[in-house]
Amino acid sequence: MSQVYFLPKEKIDRLASFLLQAGLPQVISGKNKVALKIHFGSSGHQNHIPPELVEPVVEIVRKQKGQPFLTDTNVLYRGERDNTFSHLEVVWSHGYQKLKAPSLIAGGFQGNEEIEVRLPGKSHPAYLAREFGYFEALVALTHFKGHLLSGIGGTIKNLGMGCASRKGKFAMHASVQPAISRSQCNGCGKCVKNCPAQAITLKEKKAWIDPARCFGCAQCVHICPAQAIDIPWSSTSSSQFQERLAFYAGAVLSLFPGKFFAVNYLLNITPNCDCLRKPGSPLVPDIGVLASFDPVAIDQASAYLVKETTGQSWPAGVDKFQKVWPNCPYQVQLEEAEKLGLGSRKFQIETF
Ligand code: SF4
Ligand code: SF4
Repeated sequence: MSQVYFLPKEKIDRLASFLLQAGLPQVISGKNKVALKIHFGSSGHQNHIPPELVEPVVEIVRKQKGQPFLTDTNVLYRGERDNTFSHLEVVWSHGYQKLKAPSLIAGGFQGNEEIEVRLPGKSHPAYLAREFGYFEALVALTHFKGHLLSGIGGTIKNLGMGCASRKGKFAMHASVQPAISRSQCNGCGKCVKNCPAQAITLKEKKAWIDPARCFGCAQCVHICPAQAIDIPWSSTSSSQFQERLAFYAGAVLSLFPGKFFAVNYLLNITPNCDCLRKPGSPLVPDIGVLASFDPVAIDQASAYLVKETTGQSWPAGVDKFQKVWPNCPYQVQLEEAEKLGLGSRKFQIETF
C-alpha cells in the first residue's frame, strides 16, 4: 500500500508546506539537475498548471540546492508544440518564463535526439528524449484529466508519452488508426489538409486513410466537422496503447531510482487532454493537489477522487472516465504499471 498526500483545493495557498510535508525535498540532493516534467498547455484554453502552483516546487528544489528545469518534449502531431520555437512561445504565453527555472524542450528541435532504454525481459527498447539521460532527479507535475486513448491522462501518461522521443511516441501510437464513415463524410477535405502524416486523400469525394502512413495521432477525429472520423475503439488497441505507456513510463523511472516524486493537480478535470484546443467542460469541480513517491498510486487515487466527487452529469460514486471513455478502461495502464513494478494500485490518502 502506498501513501498519497492530498491537499484540498480550499487550502491550495498552503501548497509549499504541503509539498515539504509530502517529502519532495527527499528526492533532491545538492546540485542535482532536476527535471520538472510538465505539459505547457495549448493556446485556446487555460487548463495548464498555473505557474503560481509550480513556483513552490521550483523554490523547494532551489532551497535543496538543486537545478530545476521545466521540461517537455515536442509532440508527434502537427501543431504549436511540434517544434521548439513555437513550443517555447506557448511556454511564454502561459507565463512559465517568470519562474526561476529555465524551460527546456527535450529531444531536440526535430524530436529525434534520443536515448535507448531497455527494461529487463523486454525485447525492444524505449526511445526517450536524450536529456532524460542527463537529469539526476525527476518531478512529474501532471494536470490530471481524461484522455481519448488512455481514459485518463495522469502521471503514467505524463511520463510515458511526455518523455518519449518522436520515434518513441510513434511506437506507442502505431497500431491505433481511425476509421471514416463514408456515409457521414461530406468531402470537405479539412482532414486532408490537417493530417500531419499526409495519410488522407479524397477518393470519389470521400476521405480515405492510407494505413501505411497513418500513425494514429487522432487529430483528424477532432478536426472533422461532420464527425465522420472515429477511432475503432477495440479494447485491444486502447489496451496496447496503455501497456506501451506503462512500459515507457517504466523506462523513464528506471533512470531515477529513489529520485522520483509525483504531483497531480486535480483542477479543470476535463474529459479530454490539454493537447486539444477544446478539451471540454470539467467533469467535476476542482478537487485539489495530490503528491506521492508512487506514480501508480497517485493516478489510482486521483481517479478515485474524481469518481467520488459529484459532477454536472454524474453523481459521486460514478466513474466519470469510464462513462466518457467506455472503451478505454484506464485501469489497463495502472495494472500494467503495477506488473512492471512501478508502484502499487493500493493507496492510502492522507489529507493535509
Ligand atoms: S489519418 Fe488521422 S490519425 Fe492518422 S495520422 Fe492522419 S490525422 Fe493522424
Ligand atoms: S473532415 Fe470529415 S467530412 Fe471533411 S473530408 Fe474529412 S472525413 Fe470527410
